[in-house]
Amino acid sequence: MIAENLQRTVDGLPAEVRLVAVSKFHPVEALQEAYAAGQRVFGESRVQELCEKAPLMPADTQWHFIGHLQTNKVKPLIGLVSMIESVDSERLLELIDRLSAERGVVTRVLLQVHVAEEESKFGFTPEELLGYFERRGFENLRATHLCGLMGMATNTDDMERVRQDFARISELRRQILAMCPDLRGFDELSMGMSDDYGIAIEEGSTLVRIGTAIFGSR
Ligand SMILES: *Cc1c(COP(=O)(O)O)cnc(C)c1O
Repeated sequence: MIAENLQRTVDGLPAEVRLVAVSKFHPVEALQEAYAAGQRVFGESRVQELCEKAPLMPADTQWHFIGHLQTNKVKPLIGLVSMIESVDSERLLELIDRLSAERGVVTRVLLQVHVAEEESKFGFTPEELLGYFERRGFENLRATHLCGLMGMATNTDDMERVRQDFARISELRRQILAMCPDLRGFDELSMGMSDDYGIAIEEGSTLVRIGTAIFGSR
């Protein structure tokens, strides 16, 4: 089933959009099945779970951390994950940078932006994000590569609202690049999950994070 779901999902993506297979809460056998079917990039949302699964997977597996990250849990991810998609505060960003510099690695990150209606979602507000780039906060980073933005749409059946949320995130990336044209490699937009990735792609997504449609319900 997983192989078929994966194939169907990948076949439906435009060539320039990459899939993060969100494997949180699924056993490592499920990831191994997806790996055997060709998938290399996996998304996990808990540090402990990722650290338990990583040694059981082939070395060329790429891990994207996509969950809320507490500062006291950052360290084991440094040098292990290929991207932290869920950087939601400057404090967290600075810590990732310091720990990466100490380890002698460069960590690729996305800044998570909060545009959805729900109170509970993590992320920079659009204003905080624009403020950060306006004062060129990124110039202090030594061992972190800002690769773009990650965001979620409002959890609603109103697909126009979902589209607006994704369009807002796309627009934010353009605004940031207009403000900081020297920013290199700020190319990624991680938007779209099982229920809304079609719309996200229409609004410019380069990375889709899909769990349920591949692995089934959690
Ligand atoms: C769980 C999760 C996903 C995947 O959601 P599905 O609806 O199962 O595709 C995507 N992004 C984040 C941040 C998640 O936590």
